[in-house]
Amino acid sequence: MSHPVTVLVVEDERAIGNLLGAILDAQKYRVLFATNGAEALSMAASHTPDIILLDLGLPDMDGMDVLIQLRKWFDLPILVVSARQKEQEKVEALDAGANDYITKPFGNQELLARIRTSLRQYARMQNSRSQLDSEFSVGDLHLSYARRQLHIGDELVHLTPIEYRIVVLLARNAGMVLTHDHILKEIWGPFASDSQLLRVNMANIRRKIEPNPADPRYILTEVGVGYRMIDTER
Ligand code: CA
Repeated sequence: MSHPVTVLVVEDERAIGNLLGAILDAQKYRVLFATNGAEALSMAASHTPDIILLDLGLPDMDGMDVLIQLRKWFDLPILVVSARQKEQEKVEALDAGANDYITKPFGNQELLARIRTSLRQYARMQNSRSQLDSEFSVGDLHLSYARRQLHIGDELVHLTPIEYRIVVLLARNAGMVLTHDHILKEIWGPFASDSQLLRVNMANIRRKIEPNPADPRYILTEVGVGYRMIDTER
């Protein structure tokens, strides 16, 4: 993008708003602030930001309603800023159309990485299917969509068709968290609800691709929420 990327920060706590503003400003983002839901909606309409950071605890409206309204009217990445331990809130936000979330308290690098990933993922989604990347690589993991092959280093990994589809789904959304429910429905269809199925398959995938399945480096567990394939090595 040639113009400065505009971030709309929706946050009613001044200290957190200032902190976010300082972090983003230092990276040359253009930062706009809204301190309640109504202001967020009107500023999104009048300033067409590139991405929105949305705190869900707002004084005037339920943050989830703000999210649903934003999603209804605006096609842009929305990153929810959520308190720790609120897994259910994160899942609901993702299901309501948030692209990802960050958990308070967050580190600067984590925040900036999430923003970059969301913007990149959004740009990728804007491209037509035919222009999708033909392969995905991170660390020693190499996935060729054309050959339907996954390598770890030089070694070809044998995945079942279901395992392969799970890995592809996560890789296509690398850097983003996908909820258990989202993955279940993408892989097993709209009526799937048995999360045990996903857990078993994930354990098998990790056994095949992770150097240490107990401490995964490629597919991370987001406790109570879902899974995230990393897009860059930390
Ligand atoms: Ca708040």
